[in-house]
Amino acid sequence: MTAETVHLRSPNTVLANAIDYTLDVLRPRILADGTERIRFTVGTQINGHPHIGTHLVQSLAFLVAEAARDDYGIDTAVEFHALDNAPADTVRDTASGHRYQRTYRHRLGPHVIADLVTEHYTPLFDALTLRTGVPYDLTTYTVQQNTPEFRAEFLRTLEHLDAIRYWLDPSAGSAHIRLPCPECGWAEKYAERTRLLELDGSGGLFESVCLHHGRYESDITPLGGGYLDLSTLYRNVVKERSYRADGTLHVMVKGGDWAFGCQLVDGAQSAIGMTATAPVRIFTPQILGPDGGKLSKSLLREAGAGAGPPEGNPFGWILNPSLWTGTPEDYVSTLTELGELLLSDPRNFFRSYTTTEMERLTMSTRQPARSATQAHGRPRNIQIYREYFDLIADGSKTVEVRVAYDSMKRIKVGDLLNFTCRELSCTTRVTRVGKYRTFKEMFGTESVKAINPNATEVEQLMAIQAIFPPAKEALGVLTFELELVHE
Ligand SMILES: [Zn+2]
Repeated sequence: MTAETVHLRSPNTVLANAIDYTLDVLRPRILADGTERIRFTVGTQINGHPHIGTHLVQSLAFLVAEAARDDYGIDTAVEFHALDNAPADTVRDTASGHRYQRTYRHRLGPHVIADLVTEHYTPLFDALTLRTGVPYDLTTYTVQQNTPEFRAEFLRTLEHLDAIRYWLDPSAGSAHIRLPCPECGWAEKYAERTRLLELDGSGGLFESVCLHHGRYESDITPLGGGYLDLSTLYRNVVKERSYRADGTLHVMVKGGDWAFGCQLVDGAQSAIGMTATAPVRIFTPQILGPDGGKLSKSLLREAGAGAGPPEGNPFGWILNPSLWTGTPEDYVSTLTELGELLLSDPRNFFRSYTTTEMERLTMSTRQPARSATQAHGRPRNIQIYREYFDLIADGSKTVEVRVAYDSMKRIKVGDLLNFTCRELSCTTRVTRVGKYRTFKEMFGTESVKAINPNATEVEQLMAIQAIFPPAKEALGVLTFELELVHE
């Protein structure tokens, strides 16, 4: 896929105007922290069938992790949070008029939740790991809220409850700490009658009222005391504070609609006191319905109810991936090619797309490859800075140097590498692969001029060692001799 096959021109934005590459948004923190590894966290509510917005955010988490690893020479991984505390049922208590809710975890139990995750997500994640070489792990909110780190951090926020409650709920000032009834699992949705009775070094004692069982107490400690179901904003505040300084940079990968909500999270964080380990956030493109509203599961349900089954509506598989008619491999290819297109330019990334535009872009990515690329399959996109792009495009740089990550080791003679720089792209064919233990050894064999005609060996060695620290160099060094593919 190249800029020529998919006609996508995105408007400039404040953020896109400030950076050359999408992943440059991470550079200030990586430089300031001396980051040793990055974990990209993506959370998804477990509440029925995912739509393309969900799968796209998840795919982008892997693609962003792959690009960050290759660009910064840092190990990266994806952490998937299955938010099984999504509300499954709500009822109104006739006595108080208050709304009660029960989470998917409380309605379905852990085994059904595990089955849902396996059905809707793990095949995609396994395929994405295979494709990007980025490992992932998976956890549920239920497991997360039960960890001592999460619970201890929650207890610390209670000392600041008065300072944060209007950030968490600007309209009513309630923190929405839902502590489901230990007998039936229902909890007051807005926690109107949940009160903190005592807070001391050992924990927090709460009282709440169940619609079936009346008043009950929960003694929340770092080690137990009952289920802790926090509202979305509160959960993010606690989660973001629970990271420790261990050389890991945490990056939250969030749908673009979060850009509006994060000011409330940030308000609460600064009211408590910012932490040095606060994660960075990357907001991914939003998928919008025809009216410009965010594509959501409720919209999906309404479409299903009002306009007939999803098969009958023009978005088909975009609304419901189970309607995908190709192979699962095609689905992953379509998602990753779409993701690579979005990542290829900050202007394509920091914006929204309608389902119609998504459909057009995915149709384009599914077109048969052009003649020059057909024999060797899909060209691999590699982002490169303008200076080097120009040298490759004019044929004066014929050797590209990379550290031997698994994804790079898969490149072989005959493969097509498509170098991209903003809207420009340049397709090359690999004519030789060189393998070396160190950069020094590489310069002993490869032509310095072929790598960069404008810099001496000493200058090149310094530049390359600045990008790749010794731990990365230790993976080994690969060179790719390139010839331009004229189309
Ligand atoms: Zn109850």
